[in-house]
Amino acid sequence: MPRLVMKFGGTSVANLDRIRNAAERVRLEVEKGYDVIVIVSAMSGKTNELVGWVNEISPLYDAREYDAVVSAGENVTAGLMALTLQEMNISARSWQGWQVPVQTTDAYANARIEEIPCKNLKEKFGEGMRVAVVAGFQGVSPQGRVTTLGRGGSDTTAVAFAAAFDAERCDIYTDVDGVYTTDPRISEKARKLDKIAFEEMLELASLGAKVLQTRSVELAMRFNVRVRVLSSFEEPSDEAGTLVCAEEEIMESNVVAGIAYSRDEAKMTLISVADRPGIAAAIFGPLSKAGVNVDMIVQNISEDGRTDMTFSCPTNQVLRAEKAMQDAKENGNINFHKLVADEAVAKVSVVGIGMRSHAGVAAQMFEALHTEGINIKVITTSEIKISVLIERKYMELAVQTLHDAFELNKAV
Ligand code: ASP
Ligand code: MG
Repeated sequence: MPRLVMKFGGTSVANLDRIRNAAERVRLEVEKGYDVIVIVSAMSGKTNELVGWVNEISPLYDAREYDAVVSAGENVTAGLMALTLQEMNISARSWQGWQVPVQTTDAYANARIEEIPCKNLKEKFGEGMRVAVVAGFQGVSPQGRVTTLGRGGSDTTAVAFAAAFDAERCDIYTDVDGVYTTDPRISEKARKLDKIAFEEMLELASLGAKVLQTRSVELAMRFNVRVRVLSSFEEPSDEAGTLVCAEEEIMESNVVAGIAYSRDEAKMTLISVADRPGIAAAIFGPLSKAGVNVDMIVQNISEDGRTDMTFSCPTNQVLRAEKAMQDAKENGNINFHKLVADEAVAKVSVVGIGMRSHAGVAAQMFEALHTEGINIKVITTSEIKISVLIERKYMELAVQTLHDAFELNKAV
């Protein structure tokens, strides 16, 4: 039988009624003849609550125990979804990550899926099971301990299952009806895209459009898994949502596909470090070991053999970053005058594969920001995106301004 993966995010399983509503959608697909793998998130808010408890008890927590705690939310919804489907006379069974097993690395709290052996589930499908409900976001390490895949990781679980089981499509049910040119809560002119290329979605996801976890898009691109993002609150229809697919499937698109932002950025500046070979390695090595996700990096001009080094990281990693730098200083590996953390910045980016063949996008972006009097603190670019760090209080204005400047409310 053809297989389909259906993933339900936290708001789609937020209470028993919504779980029933989601189960109804699963029933429709089962009736069409699919064997379905359902991936569930924790009920909305639950993972945050669990993470909050961990942080309260132990701010620099042991990641193994973090995973033991925060993986629990998905176990509840998996069991409830299986029970709901059984009540509808659909043969369904729930599976936690270790039972499948979803084999991951041992990078606790941020593990990667290495392999999903299909044998166990396939056997059950062979015996007449129609729906396997799998707890998203979790797996098992080589040491046999529970792991989690990083926040939003159940998207990655879903795409990985779609790849492993050769599913026709991976439907991601969420509380928005698709992928927009930007966040509709920020710009009322935001427009839903029918299709978006893997590369663009990858940039948008990694730049803070929270609709899909970045890794899930990487996986989808690598294994060419067609992913549909759609709302579980809309009438079921074949045209619903946004299809994330290969570039070749998209005939025409704007030069800029979308505008992403990330509110929780911090700009960290090491004042007066020695400008010598190896200094970047001596700074970013310890940061990486400490689990700090450094994004933008700028080395300022140097004077008298010393320079300032600026980097950005998520605000919730500022403590870790400061500790790593203080430790490196005490060990004599680096020397700096002081570390200045600016936690009031945000990142805004424009993204589009059309930039590969169109010049002038950067100039247009900077001009639009200038017109609004928005100061740019850091700039980085890649082949299909341009990102700027600006004062956080201007973030909404910047997004709206850029959305207007590139006329994203109109499809080509
Ligand atoms: N419940 C987890 C989280 O909130 C995983 C997910 O929903 O994707 O990050
Ligand atoms: Mg999510």
